[in-house]
Amino acid sequence: MARAINFSAGPAALPEEVLTIAAAEMLDWHGSGQSVMEMSHRGREFISIAEAAERDLRELLAIPANYKVLFLQGGATLQFEMVPINLLAGKASADYVHTGEWAKKAIKEARAFCQVNVVASSEDRQFTYAPAQADWKLNKDAAYVHYTANETIGGVEFHWVPDTGDVPLVADMSSNLMSKPVDVAKYGLIYAGAQKNIGPAGLTIVIVRDDLIGKAVPTPPAMLDYKIQADNESMFNTPPTYAIYIAGLVFQWLKKQGGLAAIEQQNIAKASLLYDFLDASRFFKNPVAKADRSRMNVPFTLADAALDEEFLKGAKARGMVQLKGHRSVGGMRASIYNAVSLSAVKTLVDYMAEFENSHG
Ligand SMILES: *Cc1c(COP(=O)(O)O)cnc(C)c1O
Repeated sequence: MARAINFSAGPAALPEEVLTIAAAEMLDWHGSGQSVMEMSHRGREFISIAEAAERDLRELLAIPANYKVLFLQGGATLQFEMVPINLLAGKASADYVHTGEWAKKAIKEARAFCQVNVVASSEDRQFTYAPAQADWKLNKDAAYVHYTANETIGGVEFHWVPDTGDVPLVADMSSNLMSKPVDVAKYGLIYAGAQKNIGPAGLTIVIVRDDLIGKAVPTPPAMLDYKIQADNESMFNTPPTYAIYIAGLVFQWLKKQGGLAAIEQQNIAKASLLYDFLDASRFFKNPVAKADRSRMNVPFTLADAALDEEFLKGAKARGMVQLKGHRSVGGMRASIYNAVSLSAVKTLVDYMAEFENSHG
């Protein structure tokens, strides 16, 4: 069996070791005689799986004790709604930073609940940079400040943590959580859909400071209330059990890699290899400001878009899949999450060099 070299933006590549363990445990998890998929979420076996997953996540990110970890569903998209429902806390407005496709969606959803102040935007340069802190026009009475830590489509990443003073900072880290250490204490809330860099689709991770819980709009839908989810240890209803199990295996794998500082070094090496090649190339281009380039998602274009199909075909013939760019921006995109190896990126860069030589 040949495994593809998978550059998908999400659902994305998972570590092969994790899939191998999951396969071996598929029919009989640790002598229980059951697949994890078949277990009661309230049973001793699954509770131990969920507890280990949370423990390892807390250890990897060094999450302070006054933060709750929630394992929810509905994707990052549901957080676009749950954040205002829970964090407005009686206030009339929230501040949002507009950096591209995902920020735009978060802003659109929040507008149903409050006045949204777009306090900084990179629209003037087609969302190819992260607006500098000095240009953020923050409001003291905003309930929170929301930004997209990594724009998965545009390939723009914040390599610094915004300072919002006493106003809680909220981050959509769907595509870069677990790619590097994070100083969680600087945030009020962090959320991420799992399917980019953590595990299967269906699981959404929310890390929230406990004083921000319990201030939702009056009579919120129970499922959308962080307090109810937290009080029930993310088991108000049946959680996405199998997705939690796989995420737990990914956390164990991350610990074996040496934790997030070690993974960050690997991610820097992978991203540098690809960006250095792009910068030296006269045929391929990446539009993002150098200081703000994503280590996870690398969009690039060919000098002639008429060659896109041929490029993708050649990549496929070499075992590389999912390089086509997002429909909204075109071109190519290589997503190089934790599970994509340095040798996979080398294979891509070698192919790009070869393609440039024959078509450039
Ligand atoms: C993928 C993605 C989302 C949407 O995630 P869903 O799980 O599909 O709701 C939101 N924000 C960012 C940054 C993403 O990469």
